[in-house]
Amino acid sequence: MSRAAVIGGGPAGLAAAEVMADAGLQVKVYEAKPSVARKFLMAGKSGLNLTKAEDLSIMLPHYTDAASWLTPALRAWDSTAVVAWAEGLGQEMFAGSTGRVFPKAMKASPLLRAWLRRLDGRGVSILPRHRWVGWDGKLPIIMGPDDTVSSVDVDVVVLACGGASWARLGSDGAWADWIGADVQPFGAANAAVAIEWSDHMAKQMGQPVKGVAWRAGRHRSRGEAVISHRGLEGGGVYSVSRGVREGATLYLDLLPDLSVDDVAARLDRPRGKASLANHLRKTLRLPPPKIALAQEWGRPWPVETLRIARRLKKLRIAHAGLRPIDEAISTAGGVPAPAFDDALMLRTRPGVFCAGEMLDWEAPTGGYLLTACFATGRWAGRGAVKFVQP
Ligand SMILES: Cc1cc2nc3c(=O)[nH]c(=O)nc-3n(C[C@H](O)[C@H](O)[C@H](O)COP(=O)(O)OP(=O)(O)OC[C@H]3O[C@@H](n4cnc5c(N)ncnc54)[C@H](O)[C@@H]3O)c2cc1C
Repeated sequence: MSRAAVIGGGPAGLAAAEVMADAGLQVKVYEAKPSVARKFLMAGKSGLNLTKAEDLSIMLPHYTDAASWLTPALRAWDSTAVVAWAEGLGQEMFAGSTGRVFPKAMKASPLLRAWLRRLDGRGVSILPRHRWVGWDGKLPIIMGPDDTVSSVDVDVVVLACGGASWARLGSDGAWADWIGADVQPFGAANAAVAIEWSDHMAKQMGQPVKGVAWRAGRHRSRGEAVISHRGLEGGGVYSVSRGVREGATLYLDLLPDLSVDDVAARLDRPRGKASLANHLRKTLRLPPPKIALAQEWGRPWPVETLRIARRLKKLRIAHAGLRPIDEAISTAGGVPAPAFDDALMLRTRPGVFCAGEMLDWEAPTGGYLLTACFATGRWAGRGAVKFVQP
């Protein structure tokens, strides 16, 4: 029986283990932490958005430059497959109004428990507190719980060590030092924007900003964000954080459903002695958080209403860059496409495959991240099976 090692017990590694066990390989999962899938469980705290109910042709462009090499894996394991798989593990699923798909339980633990039971039933061994620390020729070296170090004699390896955020959950990116590929530098993806607020914003902490549009370079979003002491957080800004990382100016449109002329026409209504803030509230129905943001970044206000209208629709956000990478939902960078073949096998290491967030791709939140982690995990597992059973 061929022996396979999976390094990293996140969603990508467990997906690879499932495919290889189904094909009859003897699979061991080496996990550095005391338990597997800690980031997956953390994702469950915000509902576990497993995938997006979208046709592959709509889904693929969200992976931008990586879409071309991700296509075979995602074609073999698209959102329909993700839903069927989760349902097969006893999870009732539902799609929200935006097409985001969640388990009805809105958490990851029941799904993970059922998945681990299935893997156990198929003979997969999970070895927690086993950290991959380098290579002994072709074989991975593993440090066990008692700090003993040994190489594991296997026929095929799937590396699925995650990206480089939320290091306390296991994905610390340390492997970049020894993997032996030209790893692209990690960058924060789906990250909050750091802002040093003026004292005027104190009352707005924790308030949501809804019904707005964000733009940074070619990245646009209509999602919400929350004003926090750290800055702006939430899906709306996460979606444009790549533009910020790449150096584009970040703009906020407070009134995306009105044209500049419409806004100006409303502002032209008699103002009397009202302050601008009150006038904005009355004529444009702006709620307090939006008025506060307008004042934060709009001042000093021009006199002409047309110019005020333009500014409200294109507020330049003064920020201090993205929050640190360790706080990011996901990371860009990692093992680059030229380093692996169509089966995700490292060109310099025959029999060693890579999967999940450790590969160099990025995508917005919305279920795209987990879908690609499952898909590349399964694709790498399939490649590994073909490698030992040509
Ligand atoms: C707060 C939060 C919420 C999220 N919500 C969602 C969501 O709703 N939908 C979505 O699609 N995505 C979400 N994500 C992103 C998603 O969780 C990740 O993209 C996904 O978990 C990555 O899977 P992975 O298997 O590639 O890596 P990981 O889940 O990071 O797993 C990698 C595993 O490898 C182990 N490991 C690392 N190095 C070694 C080593 N040297 N030896 C042995 N083991 C090692 C780690 O301990 C870890 O268990 C969220 C992320 C966060 C932080």
